[in-house]
Amino acid sequence: MMQLRTHICLALLAFSASEADAQQRLPISGNRSPRLAIRNATIVDGNGTPASGPADILVEGSRITSVTFLDPVAIRSGTAKRPAADAEIDATGKYVLPGLINAHAHLQDERAHVAQPYEYTLKLWLASGITSVREVGADTTEKVIAMRDRSARGEIASPRLFVYGRFSNQPVPTTPEAARARVRALKTMGADGIKILGIDRDTMQAMEDEAHKLGLRVAHHVGVEETNAWDDIRFGTTSIEHWYGIPDAAIEGGVQAFPSNYNYNNETDRFRYAGHLWREANPERLGKVLDGMVQAHVAWVPTLDIYEASRDLQRAQNQPWFAEYLHPTLAEYFKPNAANHGSYFLGWTSTDDMYWKENYRLWMAALREFDRRGGLIGMGDDAGFIYQMYGFGLIRGMELHQEAGFHPIKIIQQATGNNAKILGQEEKLGRVRAGFAADLIVVNGNPLENLKVLYPSGIEEIRDGRQVHGGGIEWTIKDGIPYHAPTLMARVKEIVAQARTK
Ligand SMILES: [Zn+2]
Repeated sequence: MMQLRTHICLALLAFSASEADAQQRLPISGNRSPRLAIRNATIVDGNGTPASGPADILVEGSRITSVTFLDPVAIRSGTAKRPAADAEIDATGKYVLPGLINAHAHLQDERAHVAQPYEYTLKLWLASGITSVREVGADTTEKVIAMRDRSARGEIASPRLFVYGRFSNQPVPTTPEAARARVRALKTMGADGIKILGIDRDTMQAMEDEAHKLGLRVAHHVGVEETNAWDDIRFGTTSIEHWYGIPDAAIEGGVQAFPSNYNYNNETDRFRYAGHLWREANPERLGKVLDGMVQAHVAWVPTLDIYEASRDLQRAQNQPWFAEYLHPTLAEYFKPNAANHGSYFLGWTSTDDMYWKENYRLWMAALREFDRRGGLIGMGDDAGFIYQMYGFGLIRGMELHQEAGFHPIKIIQQATGNNAKILGQEEKLGRVRAGFAADLIVVNGNPLENLKVLYPSGIEEIRDGRQVHGGGIEWTIKDGIPYHAPTLMARVKEIVAQARTK
């Protein structure tokens, strides 16, 4: 009863005009208002501090201009100063976070040469609360750069895109000179950074040197190759993606105990024995590698969601959102098929699952240890492969960080403030703070209690003794533009339904 009275009292203060006017002041999805207020929010910031509220957040244009914590005494006496606005979101009982940042993602317009619309991916990301994406390696960098610029101009419903051009596109640079030339070409093209994969030591050294000169950040998917985390430490890589290269750097003798018939180009071999890699790392050596990364400021974006099928194939194949939201192109791509990258589950065994379960335990322990020693951990979904859907994959990643042992406050920091640091955008993104970009999400529920409320499909729960459909993100605000997440999901559902009739 007490709670109800407070609620009414706040509502009267917030909406001095009639209820009809208040209705009109709801933002229109996709339209930026000159002044947008989010009222009575409980804020979880991106810097690892605890939740606090209620607060009014004022957005003017594309910036947050004030965050005002409300004094309960002033509210009761009617003297609380609350910003006027053209559009208002009532966040009573809701949580407001910085927009999530997806630090390892792929914007794909096809899977196995079958077209898939960008709109599908972009709307899934936004509806999952993602307002920034670090795109690490599209086939056609120019195309993604064009999308990035359209997003920046507000022409399309899309997160901000940071484009990390793929260094190893054909022809692969094989000399230091060619490596430098490729870096310069990516810079000229307008890339924000570079993604490397499958690189030799001499070309890596030259490309990193050139990238540092030009102010380009480097994301490294190490793979089992000539280089490992020690090279990233030495040459100044911004972030190691996934995890390869870290346990490799801690193996005694430097070579994993592969069977004699192992072939790296056979993906079933490759992923099967990747599941044996963490157990071969020497813990003492691993500690030194982690310290080296901390000292050299090499961050780690583990993408825990993307290998989950390796430890629990049936779970991955039967995710509830596939029913309505899985694009048929992705569905086809995910089926076991030696021709498609990441679709390696041919003859996958319970023994493989078991090795990967252990692999995850050791990997998660290493992540915790890296954090304990002062390392910077980010988060990305790497979706579009291995049964992971865009957006949903990032939320699943957050759940896996909880399984690794991180506190939900820290997990939100990893997905916002830490990722902003990895992007070099920590003075603009990843915080609910005056002066920062207006990238915010309004969540139906408390993600600190249950990260599942962030899934755009929502959750079933009991409220006041009745089963209700709750959770989900209500509004994703990017650059001051509010997007109504359920409306975006309705459109995604439509895209999928249409594609399935073809
Ligand atoms: Zn990737």
